Amino acid sequence: MIEYENLRKSNEVFAKEFQKNFEEFLDSGWYILGQNVSEFEEKFADFCNAKYCIGVASGLDALILAIDAFKFPKGSEIIVPSNTYIATIMAIVKNGFIPILVEPDIKTYNIDAAKIEEKINKKTVAILVVHLYGKVCDMKSITTIAKNHNLKIIEDSAQAHGAKFCGKMAGTFGVGCFSFYPTKNLGALGDAGAIICDDFDFSKKIRSLRNYGSSKKYYNDDLGYNSRLDEIQAGFLSIKLGMLNKITEHKRELANLYLSNLNDNFIKPIVQDDYYDVYHIFNIRHQDRDNLKEYLLQNGVGTEIHYPVSPINQKFMSTIGNGSYPISEEIHNTTLSLPISYFHKIEDIYKVCEVMNSWKA
Ligand SMILES: *Cc1c(COP(=O)(O)O)cnc(C)c1O
Repeated sequence: MIEYENLRKSNEVFAKEFQKNFEEFLDSGWYILGQNVSEFEEKFADFCNAKYCIGVASGLDALILAIDAFKFPKGSEIIVPSNTYIATIMAIVKNGFIPILVEPDIKTYNIDAAKIEEKINKKTVAILVVHLYGKVCDMKSITTIAKNHNLKIIEDSAQAHGAKFCGKMAGTFGVGCFSFYPTKNLGALGDAGAIICDDFDFSKKIRSLRNYGSSKKYYNDDLGYNSRLDEIQAGFLSIKLGMLNKITEHKRELANLYLSNLNDNFIKPIVQDDYYDVYHIFNIRHQDRDNLKEYLLQNGVGTEIHYPVSPINQKFMSTIGNGSYPISEEIHNTTLSLPISYFHKIEDIYKVCEVMNSWKA
């Protein structure tokens, strides 16, 4: 069986270093906001070419705190792609703001920049882009639109650690929000997240928000959260960050094998100049997706669907959004994610291609 993911196997190579780090952590007696967190924050900021990084408890919290920190007026609208993972939209709704859904481009699966301006009005305050599957959005068009309409850019970079557009890192076009959920390209052994930014005051605000709105112990200036990155997770993350380029290169190598070996029966991800994609997910599309998934399973290949239900069709959205999003629906109905984890070998990918290419739809 070629599993879609196996976290034990993906983390196996780090086990010795994790154990050493855990011993030191246990010995230190310091479990919250200590040296591991500050060291990781510094290293991750460096990795992203950002000035500041603030560790938080999860990717969802990174989004919630980033939106909160801007102190947008009540009733504000935030533009977001209609085919994202639900966390992006929940973060807007949790803050009491209105998500304005914009359809993705059918080739890149990222927000269609040409459809943003028609949704902008006096209440619009920000564009929350999502670099889905590990490909940066069309940030040339989007930064121009944001500038012209005086909008903030927030980047859900949960799937895009190290992805680039024209050499510029995901998360550095606006305020970058990351998840280190265990399956992400940079994954902890539990929940973790971070925000990166270049503005010192904004970084201070986030630092305060994550810790009860407090920058001085027992003095609470803001209505904050308890959303701190755990010391123990920060230790593990620093170890893996040292290997992130290698992880990314491995995934890109596997993606290239898929791209050159899968036949034209399947719609493959687009490859464009100026884009350095990190393939958090390698998806293909096919009209008969559900049967293909079943066939692959019967033939020893595990797959996933990202995502089976579009945000607009989630129950909690019934009072929040309406409208029809045919391009999103098309993607949700036809997309299939193939194995592309750190533990997969070149032979695994050849095998998946072989099984897929012999499918009689
Ligand atoms: C994983 C993910 C999140 C949420 O991250 P958590 O750490 O699970 O809270 C948000 N947005 C996207 C696009 C994601 O893939």
